[in-house]
Amino acid sequence: MRAVVTGGAGFLGSHLTDRLIHDGWSVVVLDNLITGDLANIEHLFGHERFQFIKQDVTEFLYVKGDIDFVFHFASPASPVDFERFPIQVLKVGALGTHKALGLAKDKCAKFMLASTSEVYGDPLVSPQPETYWGNVNPIGPRGVYDEAKRYAEAMTMAYHHFHKVDTRIVRFFNTYGPRMRLDDGRVVPNLVSQALSGKPLTVYGDGEQTRSFGYVADIIDGVVRLAGSDFHEPINIGSEDERTVMEFAQTVLKLTGSGSRIEHLPALPDDPRKRRPDLTRAKEILGWHPSTGLEGGLELTLAYFREKLKLVNLNP
Ligand code: UDP
Repeated sequence: MRAVVTGGAGFLGSHLTDRLIHDGWSVVVLDNLITGDLANIEHLFGHERFQFIKQDVTEFLYVKGDIDFVFHFASPASPVDFERFPIQVLKVGALGTHKALGLAKDKCAKFMLASTSEVYGDPLVSPQPETYWGNVNPIGPRGVYDEAKRYAEAMTMAYHHFHKVDTRIVRFFNTYGPRMRLDDGRVVPNLVSQALSGKPLTVYGDGEQTRSFGYVADIIDGVVRLAGSDFHEPINIGSEDERTVMEFAQTVLKLTGSGSRIEHLPALPDDPRKRRPDLTRAKEILGWHPSTGLEGGLELTLAYFREKLKLVNLNP
């Protein structure tokens, strides 16, 4: 079996690539490296079943040879990236999805879109089932990502219905683990690196907004199960363990033993107040449920960030 993983040098993409290689697949990674990092895949260079092509997936895609599966995982995904790369975020969700679907159609390959809980916007329903249509502000700071992914889902279903491409859509909720960028701006790398370096933990607003954090190995297991299923509607993959940002900050302080204080900064516009997946579909259709607890997953993540911070301090 041979797969293309767009965004394969990114956080989720590189973990998926590792898992596929481990399972015996050949993998071609396409990534333009605007937020991906070669360090995430450098251990695979020289592997006989691994190939890397530096490519912007919003442009015409050509990959030589047979392909069985296209995983479209390319996109900046952190709220700070939405400000830095708004046009690229829109393009990779729209044009990139179109090109990746075109590649799948041309190769008679199966296709999976990495979508997001952001399609639910600031949800008025909690937990969020896949049948919820969402509450998105199209012109707010998150609009570029939310609308690009909503368009990407529509395009994926159109290719499924019209061109009969064998597609899947996974809606990821907050995921954390090794290989998150230290400067990615999201709550896990921010608070962990602040705690490890004795700086104040920045909590936006009152910190009563919630997230449910899934450990990356569990999440990738859900992806592999979905790839092996015949289910074409969107499916939530994430953790149901919902915490407020304040609770998350306290957990980080406890696990790191840090004496850092908590500093409240202004709330972000359109920051979803609640986020937690309804996992009924994942359980019933994939027999999948995450198994790593937040504390256990954070311990594994802390080890990674400690090493990264050592390198940063050695080469400031
Ligand atoms: N957040 C925070 N401090 C930070 C970074 C994020 O309080 O340094 C909050 C943010 O306002 C949001 C939550 O943590 O409510 C999760 O933010 P993140 O950027 O990780 O991703 P999101 O789930 O919003 O896409």
